[in-house]
Amino acid sequence: MADCLFCQIVAGVIPATRVLESDRTLAFRDINPQAPTHVLVITREHYPNLAAAAQAGGGLLDELASQAQRVAEAEGVDESGYRVVFNTGSQAGQTVWHVHAHVLGGRALGWPPG
Ligand code: 5GP
Ligand code: ZN
Repeated sequence: MADCLFCQIVAGVIPATRVLESDRTLAFRDINPQAPTHVLVITREHYPNLAAAAQAGGGLLDELASQAQRVAEAEGVDESGYRVVFNTGSQAGQTVWHVHAHVLGGRALGWPPG
């Protein structure tokens, strides 16, 4: 989608600090990090949210989850703990309508979220 920020990051039109890539996913650092580790794992194809990516099937969500774990390992937070968040809808704070997993770690994360 030409007007989608994350599709443009996939295409390389908008720069991002890439940390990991796989066939169907891309992981890059969030521009406004909320924790020492704050990486976004996205699908290369455009899906507006988690449910739409789930409907695509074919193991796409498994790949997202596996890549989130690999990001955590690369960042050294897999043992201390990390959080994976998919904001869905505006009241949950979704601002980019291309599915993305936030991978957060490197500090104690509060629960419940604010
Ligand atoms: P959401 O609010 O939709 O759950 O998450 C969108 C995330 O994308 C936010 O955490 C925001 O900081 C991040 N973001 C927005 N624009 C850019 C950008 O141009 N580059 C990068 N790397 N992250 C972005
Ligand atoms: Zn997109």
